[in-house]
This record gives sequence, C-alpha cells and structure tokens, in this order.
Amino acid sequence: MKYIDTHAHVNFNAYKEDADEVIKRSLEKGVGVVNVGSQYSTSVRAVEMAHRFENVWAVIGIHPLHLRKQNLSYQDSSELEATEIKTSGEEFDYKKYLELAKDEKVVAIGEVGLDYHHFEEGDDVEKLKQQQQEVLLKAIQLANEINKPIMLHCWDAYPDLLEILKKYPVEKKGIVHSFVGGYKTAKKFIELGYKIGLNGVITYTDDFSRLIKEISLEDIVLETDCPYLTPVPHKGERNEPYMVELVAKKISEVLEIDIEDVKKITSGNAIRVFGIKKESLL
Ligand SMILES: [Zn+2]
Repeated sequence: MKYIDTHAHVNFNAYKEDADEVIKRSLEKGVGVVNVGSQYSTSVRAVEMAHRFENVWAVIGIHPLHLRKQNLSYQDSSELEATEIKTSGEEFDYKKYLELAKDEKVVAIGEVGLDYHHFEEGDDVEKLKQQQQEVLLKAIQLANEINKPIMLHCWDAYPDLLEILKKYPVEKKGIVHSFVGGYKTAKKFIELGYKIGLNGVITYTDDFSRLIKEISLEDIVLETDCPYLTPVPHKGERNEPYMVELVAKKISEVLEIDIEDVKKITSGNAIRVFGIKKESLL
C-alpha cells in the first residue's frame, strides 16, 4: 500500500451502483481505504465491505447530524457544491455499536463529534449541543471499552471538543478529520495526541499553507471524505479514495519536499493510529 485514505464513505449511497469497482480502482492504485459510518446502517455496510477486501477497514459510529431528523443542504467548504442529505434522527444504541466495534476490521469509533454549523432558526441550540455532547461522551466510553481510537467530526465547535477531550481522554487518541481550523487550534489537538486529517479542502486555496508549515508531517493523516470535497483538478466530479494522492501533492508543494516523503510519513501515521499490522498490508 502506498496511501491510506483514512476517511472515505464508499459505504454511502453515492456508490450504490459501483462501490466494489471504486474500491478495486483505489486498491489497484495502491490506496488502502478506511470507510466511515455516519449511522448504524452505513456502519454495518462499512464493516461488510471491509470483509470483502484486503486493505479496507471500517470505522463505526454516528455523525452528530444524524441525531436528529433534518433535511440538510450540505454545502462543502468550497461553497460550490451542495448535496441534499436526509438525516434519520437515530439514537446511539451503545450495545449495538459495542457488538459491531468488536469486529477485527473495525479500526476506530466514528464518525462522532460536534456540529454546530447546521443549526437552523428556531432551534433549541443549547439542547442540541447538549445532545451531541452526551453522545460524544458515550462514544468516548465505547472507544475506551474496546481500546480503539476515535474519528472526530467537528464543525464550528473546536473549543468545546477540546474541552471534552481534555476532560474525558480517549486512551488510544485518534483523528480530528477534515480539519479546517487554524494552526494554533491544530496544535492544541496535537498536544493531546491527536492527528490532523487533511483532505481536498486544502487544494482549493492557499489558506492552509500556514497550518501545513506550522504543524509536523508526523501529525498529519490524509483523507478524501469522498464522495465530498473532491480535490482540484477533479472538483465537481464524484470523489474517490485514490484521489488522496492529490492531497499529498498539495502538501508536498507547500512544504517543497518530495511527495514520496509525504506518502511515507502520513501513511505511517495512519498505520500507527489505527493499529494496522504492517504485515497485513498487501
Ligand atoms: Zn465523513
């Protein structure tokens, strides 16, 4: 394996017709895939897919937006593409997730976290925040019970997330995925032992150059968050895990180093975070 896409959603409906081909295409290009669930059904699908392929793993959990029923127009950070998402309003069933988490191909608990970005007018914001935080605490408890790391989603809520992680540490740490904050915030997560997940967003602008320069390559893992956030120059197309190389390319340009070094170091980081045995990599 050359790269590991640490946060993909080939388990989502965007790949309903051709999920296996998408996975094979990435594996052929030397990209391992970690599929992440956003609710119970997509978590189960991620585990099933992981068992069909070598170098494919699963992360299981419940995305904070799935805790309530909502029709969302999901706007990616480029503000160019909008995707309609229907969330189901699901409860976090600890026992069900615990059973699923025991699977050997489950490498982390997630995606879980805080999303204060999608509140709407008339929302009881304090109540919704509290609900998200309570579920996050349960997910932290689960990660610690099963001794696996955590995959964190966070939008407009870094201070609260930091506070929770300080108060309720995850033994195996984990990844702050799709990080879009500043370098000072990133360093606070790194101090707590977390890796920073970077994706196609960093190819849209040079706004993240400072972040990339200020933190160490040892603290970065690469992801696509596919089908969303397709890196330049494929923006507008459906994203696929193999495009993670374009994220590596952007980092190598910013740091003016060989892309091989970006590949080696960030893949090593992913292997260590997830506890993937090197000899199991093909
Ligand atoms: Zn995601």
